[in-house]
Amino acid sequence: MRIDKRKCRKFADPGLKMNRNHGLLHAEKVKYIVRTAVKNIGGQRILVLYVYLREQAADGIFIPVWTMFQGRTEYITLFRKEDGSTSWNKAAFCNLKRDYDFGRHCAFYMAGDEERVTRFCKQTANNGFISLYRLQDGIMEKRRRERRQKKEKEILAKMKLVPALPRNINRTIEREIIPHYVFYTYSRKKKGMEGFCTACSSEVLVTGVKHNERGICPLCKEAVTFKSRGKRGMIIDRETLQIFQRISSNEVIVRFIKIYYQYGDEKNPYKSIYENARTFLYWDDSGNISEDPFYYGYGDRSSLTPWRAGDRPVFSYWRYNFEADQTGFLYYKNLEKVFADSPWQYSQLKEFYLADQEPLYALRYLAAYKRYPMLEYLVKLRLYHLAGNIAFGNHYYYNSDSGFNPNGKNLKEVLGFDKNYLPLLQSINPGLEQIKLMRDLVHAGMELNEELLMWCGKFGISRAENLLVPLKHMTPHKLMKYVNEQYAKFCKKSLYQTGGYYRMEDVLTDYRDYLCMSEGLELDLKNSFVLFPADLKKAHDKVNDISDKEQALVYDRQIQKQFEEMNQQYHFVKYGYAVLLPHTAKEILEEGQNLHHCVGGYVKQVVKRESTILFVRKAEAQEKSLCTVEIKNGRLVQARCYKNEPPSPAVQRFLNVWEKKILHAPALAAAA
Ligand SMILES: [Zn+2]
Repeated sequence: MRIDKRKCRKFADPGLKMNRNHGLLHAEKVKYIVRTAVKNIGGQRILVLYVYLREQAADGIFIPVWTMFQGRTEYITLFRKEDGSTSWNKAAFCNLKRDYDFGRHCAFYMAGDEERVTRFCKQTANNGFISLYRLQDGIMEKRRRERRQKKEKEILAKMKLVPALPRNINRTIEREIIPHYVFYTYSRKKKGMEGFCTACSSEVLVTGVKHNERGICPLCKEAVTFKSRGKRGMIIDRETLQIFQRISSNEVIVRFIKIYYQYGDEKNPYKSIYENARTFLYWDDSGNISEDPFYYGYGDRSSLTPWRAGDRPVFSYWRYNFEADQTGFLYYKNLEKVFADSPWQYSQLKEFYLADQEPLYALRYLAAYKRYPMLEYLVKLRLYHLAGNIAFGNHYYYNSDSGFNPNGKNLKEVLGFDKNYLPLLQSINPGLEQIKLMRDLVHAGMELNEELLMWCGKFGISRAENLLVPLKHMTPHKLMKYVNEQYAKFCKKSLYQTGGYYRMEDVLTDYRDYLCMSEGLELDLKNSFVLFPADLKKAHDKVNDISDKEQALVYDRQIQKQFEEMNQQYHFVKYGYAVLLPHTAKEILEEGQNLHHCVGGYVKQVVKRESTILFVRKAEAQEKSLCTVEIKNGRLVQARCYKNEPPSPAVQRFLNVWEKKILHAPALAAAA
């Protein structure tokens, strides 16, 4: 029965007086004085507690600040503000004021006031406040239980709609998901060793195999890993399987199945397969999608369902938690049906997964598809690596500078390559980084070499200048051969090793540096001992360890060389402005001095071909500094005038035309 607020108001202030000689009114430790009454309000017995400020009472003001109405199953409090206005409050007695010691600062006016409370509350305590707290705790706990049950009933109703798992699940797990083994007994002859295959559950004889080697079962021809019985120890495999199912016309569910296989007994592995999470996906007519995740909780007997709303709690984000991990294999056989007439009908999730059948986080793919519908085309074009980068990559990188436009309508708009490049793209299967590298190479006028690009993809090589400099002197094949050899010889084999290369790209960076310096030193790069030094690191350090005077000469020669190579390409005159390349290091230093900016510090980068510096000048006054431009990776990265000011509108207009007509001139459609 609810407490009737309107009727309660009549009992809010009974106008009680207090005896001003009562000791309580002068007790410093007491902040609040409580008086009580039991009333019949709206047909129920209600305990009423009047809470007065002691200081006010001592001054003869007897108006309660709070009047609490306590029924058997409910309580409510009327709060009176200083201005006389009132408001209702649902807090328990001890929380009436945001003061954790509130209760301790309260005292009952008379013994009868306290007795009334203990009698009404029917608790075992003699203390009035404790009796009240216990009654209110019990009421709150009951409310919490009811709320939880209501929620659990909703979850239960939702879970009733979930269909049974597809019938062939266990077969799929056995055949496609868990790894298989041939356990064999090693013998010195290595011939006809006795083994057992977990794929076909048969005794087999194997010859010439090694422990932990991958191969196929001689009987069933399934892919297996060979395990020597003497060495294998305990083998535990754990995997996740995602199963999508249709719930209704606007709802699908993805279910996460956890799989443990433990090979103690090789013929009879311990298996544990259970579902531990579900996520419902709904969509409305306007295409809004919402997710509703649940996880399987354990060990609470009082609950109606083990399913709990939300994501599985994890205790540490830095530690891998297999139970919470939703990346896994995909049950793909039903996907067409499940996604028919859904927002993901054309998402190509199945095709993307089937490209390599590696574990993935399908929900993330589906969310990415909603944002970048062109995932469909990338998968259809079999550009899986790119599709994966877009579905699972960091979207922060998709700016115009990456050369990738996720909102493009066709291949040219998305990647900057037209369809003539498609066969090459398909065989390279590039990721975003490689696409950028390819664009940079094409901009620099280089023919794209399939083998070289595959190599770059394999080793994560992404800097165009690292390829462009050596390729002036050799074929891609020779470059790869040399760099592979150097890496094999000098790669870091231990974290504690000083020197040595971490990555293939580091070898290339040193090699470019070496070649740039060698060009400046006018070494004979036709001589293969000079072109391919046996110890690159040593040779690199040697060409860099030169006197300042020698270095100045090398830098000047290298910059002169670049002038000869590139001035033709970049030179341009329009609107009364011209672009030119520096001839010497001195010219770059002077440009910095004339314009009071820091281009002088770029000489080294220019020499090593990491940047190109260009001067924009008035066509009729080409000796006079005006604006300095830096080109990096085939893109204009900065243009600075006097004291680092940006270019004037006229210069900017000139630069825009130059960028379009000259810098980005080698049309990507032209080659291939
Ligand atoms: Zn077999």
